[in-house]
Amino acid sequence: MKYYSLNRKAPDTTFENAVIKGLAPDSGLYFPEEINPLPKSFFEDIDNKSYPEIAFEAIKQFVSPEIPEDILKTIIEETLSFDFPVVKLDDNISTLELFHGPTMAFKDVGARFMARCLGYFNKNNTNEVTVLVATSGDTGGAVANGFLGVKGVNVVILYPSGKVSDIQEKQLTTLGQNITALEVDGVFDDCQDMVKKAFLDESITSKMQLTSANSINVARWLPQLFYFMFAYKQLHKHQDEIVFSIPSGNFGNICAGMVAQQLGLPVKHFIASNNANNVVTEYLKTEHYNPKPSVATISNAMDVGNPSNFIRIQEIYKNDFDQLRANLSSYSYTDQETRQALLDIYKSYNYVADPHGAVGYLGCKDYLKTNSNAHCVFLETAHPTKFLDVVEDVIETKVELPSQIKAVMDKEKVALQISSYEELKSFLLNTTK
Ligand SMILES: *Cc1c(COP(=O)(O)O)cnc(C)c1O
Repeated sequence: MKYYSLNRKAPDTTFENAVIKGLAPDSGLYFPEEINPLPKSFFEDIDNKSYPEIAFEAIKQFVSPEIPEDILKTIIEETLSFDFPVVKLDDNISTLELFHGPTMAFKDVGARFMARCLGYFNKNNTNEVTVLVATSGDTGGAVANGFLGVKGVNVVILYPSGKVSDIQEKQLTTLGQNITALEVDGVFDDCQDMVKKAFLDESITSKMQLTSANSINVARWLPQLFYFMFAYKQLHKHQDEIVFSIPSGNFGNICAGMVAQQLGLPVKHFIASNNANNVVTEYLKTEHYNPKPSVATISNAMDVGNPSNFIRIQEIYKNDFDQLRANLSSYSYTDQETRQALLDIYKSYNYVADPHGAVGYLGCKDYLKTNSNAHCVFLETAHPTKFLDVVEDVIETKVELPSQIKAVMDKEKVALQISSYEELKSFLLNTTK
């Protein structure tokens, strides 16, 4: 598959190059040249296919010919080594649990898939690739875990000191090997600015290959389309109007769901559920796209003021506002509403959600008011223990730590403290080659 830049000022490129570079030379996001629908029989036959078989058929066109089929099968088997259960709450609402991976965040799938693609492309390469990421919490852990031990790839993660949860910090700082954590004296935006600066700094990029591991990278973004197919497999016999409510930040996850729909997955409608960072909710109301600085909320993985993947969504709909609006609704909720939703879910269904899932649940509730025949699936994008303070405070009950989390809490933190861009630069130039 060829990929083109959405800024349209860079040459088309291969999947391999799109993964290694992350962003096109004109700073545009890469987008696949075609999305060829799967045959109808694929969906009719879905009960007879395993998750890896579904994933293989669904993503093959996007990664071939650079990744041979047998390698792709292995990559997928290794990526999908945990479950994706749909839990029914009532006749109209289910949740798709995406937190059963090693770091208990849905980003595990994309990070693991991308790491293995990069490892494959780099297997004979003497020049290492350095993955440089800034994290406000969940991305860092998923990337660190996904890339651990991948040959030819070094990972450098910047996180804001004192601004991530204890669990998240442990997930970033205790792995060792090819993973280095840099603890930045500052906030997330400072980390993000340093990373951006490094990508543009020729004194660094002339000496080493840097790439990103957030959802702008096609190898992290596209595998997220698997979830929607797995949910369909579990639900289609009982439900014919399936709607997905996706707690959205950079809109990579929901955009991957829309790619699944383009591949032929029968989805009736998408709901982008947002916290107070409501650029897209406002856009669908007013047709004005008005990016703003992000505001902090209790569903902090969605604190994004200018969602990077929204441009990919517009590309899918050929910039046709009416078509987009026919397939996508969006709602925005305050922290107060989110807390109340956490409590309602707990009281009504004896189910412990996390703040992001709770926002997704609220999106379902609003949509169902006018679409009572639909079955709405909200995505649970993180395990509730990753947001333990809020969750325990709201439901007034202790939540048991899962084994993945317990294992990491006993390990010792190793991080390098930095406070300026110069320190990042000298670290990159001196410790990696
Ligand atoms: C990253 C993240 C999101 C937002 O996903 P996008 O693809 O950026 O829209 C939602 N919930 C959690 C827990 C996350 O970590």
